[in-house]
Amino acid sequence: MLLACLDLEGVLVPEIWIAVAERTGIDQLRLTTRDVPDYDELMQHRLAVLDQHGVKLSEIQAVIAELGPMPGALEMLAWLRDRFQVVILSDTFYEFGMPLMKQLGFPTLFCHNLEVADDRVVGYRLRLPDQKRASIQSFRALNFRTIAAGDSYNDTAMLAEADAGILFRPPAKVIEEFPQFPVVLDYDQLRVAFASAAATLSLDA
Ligand SMILES: [Mg+2]
Repeated sequence: MLLACLDLEGVLVPEIWIAVAERTGIDQLRLTTRDVPDYDELMQHRLAVLDQHGVKLSEIQAVIAELGPMPGALEMLAWLRDRFQVVILSDTFYEFGMPLMKQLGFPTLFCHNLEVADDRVVGYRLRLPDQKRASIQSFRALNFRTIAAGDSYNDTAMLAEADAGILFRPPAKVIEEFPQFPVVLDYDQLRVAFASAAATLSLDA
């Protein structure tokens, strides 16, 4: 059995923080893992901006509730679940992710937690540092082989660790810095890439 490990934002759903930036009009929240490779630096920036503007967790959750999956994402996920065991490995937080999981039919999500006080986001707690890569390593220890897909800097360690890694609609900088991964631009191409990686891996088996 092969595992399909998917990033969430930029692959199945839009970037949460971009939506929050647009809805609140706070441009400083537009930065994502696509712009800033260091996740802690990015999160400290976000927490400071939220604090400065007094943005509440419930306001962010209201924006997220309206986001919904990207067009074609539900069909993509159904196609994968028909062929693989699917796990979503994301650097988002359960407080943000669960409304989206409901819209995706509750696939398995491994992510992190926020620290919340009085409806304000005061910190974040990584369940595990570098959890995307660590998850792939653990799946290997459980004797699973993995095909991983993601769009951004925070996915590249996962892609490298997996038996096959695929970049989905990545920014140009990521394509330049990680030429070793195949790049796909839509869900049709992503299905082809998964099918082809699966065929190669079963030949190796
Ligand atoms: Mg992403």
